[in-house]
Amino acid sequence: MENEKRIRVEYVWLDGDPILPRLRSKTRYVDNSLPVEGGWDWNFDGGSTNQGSLSDSDRLLTVERTYKDPFHEGGFIALCEVAHHSGYAHETNSRKDLADCEVDGVLVGFEQEFTFINPADGKPLGMLLSPTEQGQYYCGVGCTNAIGRSILYEFEKACEKAGVALDGINAEVMPGQWEFQTAPQNPLKAADDMWVGRYLLDRISETKPLIISYDPKPHPEFNGAGCHTNISTEKMRDTFGMDEQEELMVHLEIDHPEHIKVCGDGIERRMTGECETSDYKTFCWGVGDRGASIRIPQRVAMEGAGYFEDRRPCANIDPYKVLYSLIGSLLKAKLL
Ligand code: MN
Ligand code: MN
Ligand code: MN
Repeated sequence: MENEKRIRVEYVWLDGDPILPRLRSKTRYVDNSLPVEGGWDWNFDGGSTNQGSLSDSDRLLTVERTYKDPFHEGGFIALCEVAHHSGYAHETNSRKDLADCEVDGVLVGFEQEFTFINPADGKPLGMLLSPTEQGQYYCGVGCTNAIGRSILYEFEKACEKAGVALDGINAEVMPGQWEFQTAPQNPLKAADDMWVGRYLLDRISETKPLIISYDPKPHPEFNGAGCHTNISTEKMRDTFGMDEQEELMVHLEIDHPEHIKVCGDGIERRMTGECETSDYKTFCWGVGDRGASIRIPQRVAMEGAGYFEDRRPCANIDPYKVLYSLIGSLLKAKLL
């Protein structure tokens, strides 16, 4: 049978949107005798994704990591980088810098917040209930407090089938707002899982239909949506006492303006110093402080070893860029 020799592959890549790259995907049936590396590479029209022009539109998709496709038995999701036909990475290909970083022993876990938006009125799902204050929704239970949970169940199952490593899920502070956490992993896999996780959520949203929004501040009176980034190196997991913490913070403070540039479009709307954020213009850190740019967890301070939480990244970050810049500071602080 002809079909038995062919594998269904969903090619997924990031487009060239200058503010927040959007996910694109298209399907191809690949001969199963071809090797993934090189044999699966494909192409697309970069003129339609902000990655080329009418007269110079052919762009290459190189398959970098494969996941099982939870929506198609036997199929695969192929996460790709975008290249020119010469083989050079495209200018919009933010994955390459991180992939080229040769760092060992770094572990990263993200806390991805997002908001279900009703396409009919453009408002967060559940806002029709006219909430007056935000206290009831965080880790809420019950139909008026946890809005859209069934979609999270679908998402969880999809992640499990695909091989996206989740660590947890919780309802967030605003109605229709949720968070998923990725398991601690090496930076490239953690960032790849974030993009594939977002892809799976988007695919599920098509069947509702619902908009998955990563806007950092979907509603002016409620907490915004962030993507806290938890990171450690092997050295830090061994020793991360006051001396190491202070040395690192010196570098993070110097690098703060550069980091803010990759912490998401619209950060000035979210990091106002209110709603469990610090002011994006000022760097600050503290133990157990959820109003700081960087939080050292209490347990880490007590044990003198572990990780830190960067609370600056917005929900709409490109995780490749955030990790690349944080690794730069860790190298300067000689924690890597
Ligand atoms: Mn969290
Ligand atoms: Mn959260
Ligand atoms: Mn957090």
